[in-house]
Amino acid sequence: MAIKVLSVTSEAVPLVKTGGLADVAGALPKALAAFDVDMRVLLPAYRPIRAKINDAKPVWTDHNLFGGPASAFALVDTPFYLLDAPHLFDREGGPYSDSHGDYGDNAFRFAALSFAAALIAEAGFADGWVPDIMHGHDWQAGFAPTYIKARGRASTKSVMTIHNIAFQGWAPASELPHLMLPAERFSPDGLEYYGALSALKAGLIDADWITTVSPNYADELKTGQFGMGLEGVIRGRAHQMSGILNGVDYEIWSPEKGDGFTPYSRTKLAGKAKNRTALAAEFGIAEPEAPLAIVVSRLSDQKGMDLLIDALPAYFAAGGALCLLGSGDAGLERALGEIANRFPDRFGLRIGYDEGLAHRMFAGADTVLVPSRFEPGGLTQLYGLAFGTLPIVAATGGLADTVVHANIAALQNNVATGLSFARIDAEALQSVLLRSIALYRDKKTWQKMMKNAMGADFGWARAAASYAEIYRMLHKK
Ligand code: ADP
Repeated sequence: MAIKVLSVTSEAVPLVKTGGLADVAGALPKALAAFDVDMRVLLPAYRPIRAKINDAKPVWTDHNLFGGPASAFALVDTPFYLLDAPHLFDREGGPYSDSHGDYGDNAFRFAALSFAAALIAEAGFADGWVPDIMHGHDWQAGFAPTYIKARGRASTKSVMTIHNIAFQGWAPASELPHLMLPAERFSPDGLEYYGALSALKAGLIDADWITTVSPNYADELKTGQFGMGLEGVIRGRAHQMSGILNGVDYEIWSPEKGDGFTPYSRTKLAGKAKNRTALAAEFGIAEPEAPLAIVVSRLSDQKGMDLLIDALPAYFAAGGALCLLGSGDAGLERALGEIANRFPDRFGLRIGYDEGLAHRMFAGADTVLVPSRFEPGGLTQLYGLAFGTLPIVAATGGLADTVVHANIAALQNNVATGLSFARIDAEALQSVLLRSIALYRDKKTWQKMMKNAMGADFGWARAAASYAEIYRMLHKK
């Protein structure tokens, strides 16, 4: 019999996306169906997607979820269930913030999502579907395992996935009663995190199993350098934790789709050259002789954009070019703008978020740069591989798990798929960028690397098999 899993997330493709979590949460139900897992996805009915519930009948309701009425609506022919709680989610602005910054009540809003998940674990949906497993993603679902345990009315087991430990969902201790949390659990071996509350920590303590999005990040999380204060908790649960590498949804990310660009494939690469010319034109830069690189990224300290800013002048001087699409930190946006002004022929910059443009960039570029200081899984290097757009990555987290650096051994054995650098600083990034220019001149080797990259299979099947195995193991317990 199919195992029933309620996935609880703050974003999922194609409904709402700010980062990789949405790609993962959106792809899992489809991938898991092949392993006899019936996954349904609960996420908030934010204003831009709220119209989707018009005329629908609720499949679950609560007259007072954290201060207002709430209902869940099934979206026809999809695995998605929208949690409509207008007092929490029907707002102008994005899922987490508006033009004034983060919403002040985020801890409360997503605790409510988690509480609804716990109630659904007990009562199920109107069609009689009751989850065997609650699978929560990141801090936004962190309190769900705690609520399930504290209420003690559901036999549902829980899994927590860490997509990024940098975001932990902190709230002042004074919120404890408002968040419906058991006061007696407020201690260092429970919900307390340095005198405050942390939704992610709660999930890591109370979930029956923990996963993160690459094997390498699972190891890194046990260290002070990467654990961000939760390394002790992680070490304590290492025997109930797995690193499962994210996958690529090739129905969305494939050069053969040609959505907005000329299609090409591993055996018919010709279209890529047209996309390259079109990409340079779209960004208003001269098409370079040297590699045309791209960055598609949130602009934050994590993503190493400051290192990139320092490394770029030497790369441009050597003939390289870059098209960058991203948004985030205002200081980084400004600093990138200054570089774009200095190198108008070499550097095309788009501040913003644009899914279609991201596809055209992967289709046209030679390399994709991911110089992250830490990177739990990373998806853009995987999209780069799929498009023969060779990843140039910092050797950390999931980046180190997925890109084969073009060292001599890898080149001799014809297995190289990109370039990586181990010491994460501007100098190392600059030298690997210059190396990419030299390597690109050797057209035969470069094309071999493109073919290796495009031949690598990072589809969801492997990850889905691992998740299914964990669900079954927990369900049997
Ligand atoms: P993170 O989740 O830390 O942001 P990932 O590499 O896991 O990083 O996932 C990022 C996802 O968001 C990818 O699908 C990437 O293409 C997309 N993305 C990031 N910034 C933008 C942007 N400005 N426009 C379009 N897509 C973007």
